[in-house]
Amino acid sequence: MIVAFVFILGLFVGSFLNVVVLRLHREESFIKGYSKCLFCKHRLYAKDLIPLFSYLSLKGRCRYCKKRFSNQYPVLELMTGLVFALVFWKIIPSLDLASVTALQFVHLLDWWAIVSFLIIIFVYDLKYYLILDKVVWPGIILALVVNLFLGFSIFNLIFAAVVGGGFFLLQFVVSKGRWIGGGDIRLGVFMGAILGWPHVLTALFISYILGSFISIFLLLGKRKELGDKIPFGTFLALGTFITMLWGPALIDWYFSLFYYI
Ligand SMILES: [Zn+2]
Repeated sequence: MIVAFVFILGLFVGSFLNVVVLRLHREESFIKGYSKCLFCKHRLYAKDLIPLFSYLSLKGRCRYCKKRFSNQYPVLELMTGLVFALVFWKIIPSLDLASVTALQFVHLLDWWAIVSFLIIIFVYDLKYYLILDKVVWPGIILALVVNLFLGFSIFNLIFAAVVGGGFFLLQFVVSKGRWIGGGDIRLGVFMGAILGWPHVLTALFISYILGSFISIFLLLGKRKELGDKIPFGTFLALGTFITMLWGPALIDWYFSLFYYI
């Protein structure tokens, strides 16, 4: 029951994140102004904006001009709903609200905010090949402040942030900015601030494995060619999320593979 509620909350947040991505790209305020159809500019009302439901009931088209909306909208809503439910389950495994401590509640709100930042980075880099400073910097500050409050040591967080950022800074310097952009360096700092030491390494490791596998599939499927741009921020955001949820378990599993060698 509570998970269904959290999932629906996530759908609404996902709907807001769609607006944030769109308006960041168009450099508009995402607090002021009302939603309108990108084609006919007709104002969209509450009945047109119910997450998932409106898209499905209108078969993915604008109610007024019948042009087709991007399937990014329902996909991102669904993704945010699932991610919110997974985070809730991770932090409050009993799913029992009566047992939640104040610290758990802060942790939950923090992680919901952090995954929202990660989802924006995931989608924005995938669409526009760019990691925006105005997304990453607030994320870094939030992650540092709340993690200190949750009991991380400042040295651990700073070390992890330096390792995360330094990893990309090194590649940036070696390649003279050809392999990666400055946005990756700041995203590395963000990863360190979220995960601390040593799991910033877990996230980098997982991101590179994901990135390699997916690139190979895209190359084999001729969807990409060697030398094409890869939205690496998308993989880093995904690797960070996977590490938040399953990092320690994945590391245990990975090392257990070598026990019998
Ligand atoms: Zn329209």
